Amino acid sequence: MKAFRVNILSLAGLGLLMAAMLVGQSSLGECFRPDADRKTPACLLIEPVICRSTEGKEPAVSRLDRKAIESVYAQANIQIAWLQPRYLDHTAARDGTANWKKVSEIGAKRGLWGSGPIRVSLVFVNAIGGKPGPRGLGAIDSRPERPFGPGGPICIVALPDKQKAPVMETFCVAHEIGHCLGLVHAVKDPLVPDDKTNIMSGGKYSERIGKNALMPSHIRQVRKSKLLWRRCVTESGGAKSSRTQSSGK
Ligand SMILES: [Zn+2]
Repeated sequence: MKAFRVNILSLAGLGLLMAAMLVGQSSLGECFRPDADRKTPACLLIEPVICRSTEGKEPAVSRLDRKAIESVYAQANIQIAWLQPRYLDHTAARDGTANWKKVSEIGAKRGLWGSGPIRVSLVFVNAIGGKPGPRGLGAIDSRPERPFGPGGPICIVALPDKQKAPVMETFCVAHEIGHCLGLVHAVKDPLVPDDKTNIMSGGKYSERIGKNALMPSHIRQVRKSKLLWRRCVTESGGAKSSRTQSSGK
């Protein structure tokens, strides 16, 4: 426990400095102690990373129905704080000719996810494995020790130029975030009933992100994620955080 606290404190300064730089007036988090009681609010920071050409042109599509995604994780009493987007200028990464491992390496070399507050990096590309969207990949963690357990802090999403299926797109993003938080597909999850449509199952897209998107076992799982902060604090609302962060181990 003591070692854990030391770890928390050593990350605090850097994390909050970066959070302040990235979020400006929006929000900061503080540490979340995992519990099964969803009455305690938690906060998830999500940072969009938009891939563009190597010359910094023609960004990948980065549409987001933030409210719909927020409503899924609100079921676990997790509030999402969206950070300002950053850019990854690499044509092969954007166009899906570089695979996810390569994208993860390129982003790491450019300092896109190796430092700063614990967060989900939501990477927008034009294609994954050469295939256009809507499609995604979640729970990517390039670090060898996989400190985030079954989850991971990076997910990659490809969306088509023209929006044809908005609910499916939203599902795609919400589903990949679920993987980042440690969820697995319903067919591989003995705790999830087969006959209930949810964020990790098949079924109608509107139900997969509907009011029962998260099953009780999903809620327990996501609230264990080391990506969570204790709460989101809105500076403009006058609230202050106690400036501690966890999740770094
Ligand atoms: Zn999946």
